[in-house]
Amino acid sequence: MSRFGTQVTVLEMLPRIVPVEDEEVSKELARVFKKQGIRIETGAKVDPASVKKVEGGVILKAVLSNGKEEEFCAEKLLVAVGRSPNTDKIGLENTKVELDRGFIKVNEVQQTAEPGVYAIGDVVAGTPQLAHVASMQGMVAVAQIAGKPAKPVNRNRIPGATYTEPGIGSVGLTEAQAKAEGYEVKVGKFPFMANSKASILGSHDGFVKVVADAKYGEILGVHIIGPQAYELISEAVTAMEAEATVETMMSTIHAHPTIYEAVGEAFNAVYGLAINA
Ligand SMILES: Cc1cc2nc3c(=O)[nH]c(=O)nc-3n(C[C@H](O)[C@H](O)[C@H](O)COP(=O)(O)OP(=O)(O)OC[C@H]3O[C@@H](n4cnc5c(N)ncnc54)[C@H](O)[C@@H]3O)c2cc1C
Repeated sequence: MSRFGTQVTVLEMLPRIVPVEDEEVSKELARVFKKQGIRIETGAKVDPASVKKVEGGVILKAVLSNGKEEEFCAEKLLVAVGRSPNTDKIGLENTKVELDRGFIKVNEVQQTAEPGVYAIGDVVAGTPQLAHVASMQGMVAVAQIAGKPAKPVNRNRIPGATYTEPGIGSVGLTEAQAKAEGYEVKVGKFPFMANSKASILGSHDGFVKVVADAKYGEILGVHIIGPQAYELISEAVTAMEAEATVETMMSTIHAHPTIYEAVGEAFNAVYGLAINA
């Protein structure tokens, strides 16, 4: 909407936008959004009772991170605060199915505690609410029901795609999560500023960040913000699924000039060996 010329204000209660992403990704997106003229207020708490329809739009009040209350007037208000499960009064109380705040608990092959009852998708407790997660969980459940090999969904290998501009693609642990899990972390980062195809596209914002385990070179997470980041992340997802190491990815040949060269460079950057940095 901002690019169409609309003045946009984002009110986010958490300390940063895209809070599930790596902290540096949030920072970069906020930087680019601000450059595009979008006003971003993080740590801002909207008072739901203050939201009122007025002629020509809507008004609301929010307490900003500096503690001051401000009134906002807008033509349109877009609320994007998440979804909740609809598992009340559908008869689950007559089964052994267990719930966690309304979400259905399942084991690694999507079985609930009630024999013969499976759950997949947004309604499942503990997995991100994404279409590709629902789809893979469905395949796991069906394979299990049919008595075929059913490979459980690995929470750490689910790609996340955010269709902003620049886009975001990520998989696995953020740097902070990896450190919190006790890994000795090594990070490789490569900016699109130094990528030739990004120059051709005129799209220099963002970077590729690889979070790796220092001891064995295990790839713990990859975080991309930049041109077509949600497409580029596929290489990292495949690498992690195949249990490739940073070293494998360093010697993987990336065509030139492509934006995915930046992914190869970021893997090399883990050991300070990026060529164009
Ligand atoms: C605005 C928006 C944008 C999104 N964008 C993306 C995206 O870009 N990429 C992505 O991966 N995911 C995206 N998602 C998430 C994605 O849509 C969901 O993860 C996916 O649809 C989950 O599939 P599901 O089958 O679990 O649930 P749903 O698709 O919600 O299907 C559940 C169905 O059950 C029906 N139902 C509910 N209660 C009952 C009942 N009591 N009896 C019978 N039927 C019932 C509902 O009507 C619905 O049709 C988006 C979601 C939203 C809301």
